[in-house]
Amino acid sequence: MKKLIVANWKLNPPTLKEAKKLAAAIVRKSKHVSVVCPPAGFLSGISFPRLGAQDCFWENRGAYTGQVSPVQLKSLKVKYCIVGHSEKRLLGETDEMVNAKARALLEQGITPVLCVGFGTKVEQDDLEVTDILKTQLEMDLKGLDASKVIVAYEPVWAISNGDPLATSKVASPEHAEKMAIFIKHRFGVGKVLYGGSVNPYNAKGYLDQPNIDGLLPGGASLIPKYFNQIINL
Ligand code: PEP
Repeated sequence: MKKLIVANWKLNPPTLKEAKKLAAAIVRKSKHVSVVCPPAGFLSGISFPRLGAQDCFWENRGAYTGQVSPVQLKSLKVKYCIVGHSEKRLLGETDEMVNAKARALLEQGITPVLCVGFGTKVEQDDLEVTDILKTQLEMDLKGLDASKVIVAYEPVWAISNGDPLATSKVASPEHAEKMAIFIKHRFGVGKVLYGGSVNPYNAKGYLDQPNIDGLLPGGASLIPKYFNQIINL
């Protein structure tokens, strides 16, 4: 079955020239469906069949210096937008902000890729993690049609520092599958992705899980050879 692989480039690469080169190196015909999320400043300069953004604001116009609105993203043909990434939550993004962003995106017909798993710890068992996810998702999805939201389960401790092969800590596919089942059944979410140090060697384990609908690779999405392998597994 075709799964959804969302490339989160984070604050990379440094120039538009390199970003174009990176996008051009991703194969267009692949087993799974791929989405590329470049930095906002490069969105208009990149040609890729499915574009995503890494963040947005919840208002569409006004005195909000430095923000990027859902309506602007829509005008750039952006179809997906990450919200609630742990790297944003670490800088102070609250669940209320995540909820407002997801709502504003849905109003523009852009699919939010809502990241949860911030605040989880490596030693926690499935029940403790579901408790944290429940609290987060109750706030993040408040008043929204959850069936239109993609949730990415990203245990914060599994997210790499950029090198997708360096980490020794990844969530097991079985744990990720249990969390995906919980998220779908409890909240009526349509699709659940897994993210956290995904690389070409561990990706298949997640893709083989029936309730994991795709992946959100960061570091591995910056290496075309790895990303092309992942989207063809
Ligand atoms: C991410 O970007 O959300 C992520 C999980 O990064 P990485 O794959 O590098 O851990």
